[in-house]
Amino acid sequence: MAGFISTTIPYVNARPHLGHALEFVETDAYARFMRRDEDEVFFLTGSDENSLKNVLAAEAAGLSTADLVARNVVAFESLQHRLGCAPDYFVRTSVDPLHREGATAVWERLVAAGDIYTRAYEGLYCVGCEQFYEPSELVDGRCPDHLTTPDTVREDNYFFRLSRYEDDLLKALESGALRIHPESRRNEVVSFVRSGLQDISVSRSSARAHGWGIPVPGDDSQVMYVWIDALTNYVNALGWTRDDPRYERFWAGATRRVHVMGKGVIRFHAVYWPAMLLSAGLPLPTDLVVHGYITAGGRKLGKSLGNAVDPDALVDRYGARAVRWALLATFAPFGDGDVTEERLVAAYNTDLANGLGNLVSRVTSMIGRYRAGTVPAGAVGGGLTGAVTAAIGQVGQAMTGYDHRTALQHLMTLVARANAYVDENAPWHLARESAALDTCLLHLAGAVRALGSLLRPFLPDAAAEVLAALHQPPDLVVAAGTWLDGLAGTPADKPAPIFPRLDPPAT
Ligand SMILES: [Zn+2]
Repeated sequence: MAGFISTTIPYVNARPHLGHALEFVETDAYARFMRRDEDEVFFLTGSDENSLKNVLAAEAAGLSTADLVARNVVAFESLQHRLGCAPDYFVRTSVDPLHREGATAVWERLVAAGDIYTRAYEGLYCVGCEQFYEPSELVDGRCPDHLTTPDTVREDNYFFRLSRYEDDLLKALESGALRIHPESRRNEVVSFVRSGLQDISVSRSSARAHGWGIPVPGDDSQVMYVWIDALTNYVNALGWTRDDPRYERFWAGATRRVHVMGKGVIRFHAVYWPAMLLSAGLPLPTDLVVHGYITAGGRKLGKSLGNAVDPDALVDRYGARAVRWALLATFAPFGDGDVTEERLVAAYNTDLANGLGNLVSRVTSMIGRYRAGTVPAGAVGGGLTGAVTAAIGQVGQAMTGYDHRTALQHLMTLVARANAYVDENAPWHLARESAALDTCLLHLAGAVRALGSLLRPFLPDAAAEVLAALHQPPDLVVAAGTWLDGLAGTPADKPAPIFPRLDPPAT
């Protein structure tokens, strides 16, 4: 069977910050983990380009909007690549013909369902968020994210009959057809829907949008509200309007359709988007995974706050492995937290350089020294069997709940257990030709192989190097019941350091 997973598509009005890196890396790890269960997984990402933010950023930079987004989108694609993320498709909403065609077709379906009408609208609009706010949602009259005073905007708009979908949305949420992780976010959404849904404005005057955006079909004086066009990217990129087999396989017929997002955009993904899909007669996503924010001094990162942490600079300084590890192993997936350079280096050195890296090096050198570089046969039960079996189950269970940090804690527990097993058995004191030494080395090789397999979704390149030390293929999946199968007789080579120690940041 097949699965689908997406990041949100960021505005590309500035260079990416560390919060973008977090979502890219999380989604990449989830996609790689899903590939263990599904025959095929489609990992979608892209850029949200039809935004007034981009128009304003381009004006400030003295560029055309098209030139600004084309320039900035390169930085996002390049960051994904540098972080080892491997999306299957990158949709650019201002230029991708699949997207423009699809957004228009979704709109036409909403019209055909009788869910689009016009009325005058006046509201408080934050350009930074591209979102209208209720006065009660503001903090001291200001946008809670941007700390700026929203503009009062009045214009004739098209509206979507969101109110019609209250019951259907509750049914999807309560039946588990639409799951939201974590549970606390699901509860927030359920009470929001229960409190009553208002119809939403889904277009803007072309004049206020400076002519930038996807025109409302049949009315050139209006463009689609950027969120409404952006949300449809998830099905447009699969070519749903063109009878593309990818749409059938990865959306309509997929076992899981997963959207990963930050907590600030949950209402768009958990309420507006499913209601649009219901109106258009298309299947809903099955899972929404809602991460928190990387913060600096307790505040969300963002260019407009002037505290954006440059993920490219971190990759330059510490390498992609250390950055991926910090994001996946130290950041609580559903909470907020600071990621500092000190924590990044400490986590990498403790977990990888001293932990896993040291274990791989010890085990392969002992097999070299005591068994001429070939993994020996030995007793199958006991030893590390319990620890390896538990880790395989626990990592799988944590990732089923999209909890990468807990998964990696279980992985590190196995590293610690295997390092302790070396010291308890002291292979250097065992009789050189003993069966006890055979079994000890076999179990250590098995643990290293299982760790390489478990590490793959998180650090794919490093995992391949761990597995290569035992001449195992990079896509090997180790299962609990067969964790030692086929290992005896394979060569073990001590690799070049997979995780060289990092110097602490200069202070
Ligand atoms: Zn705002």
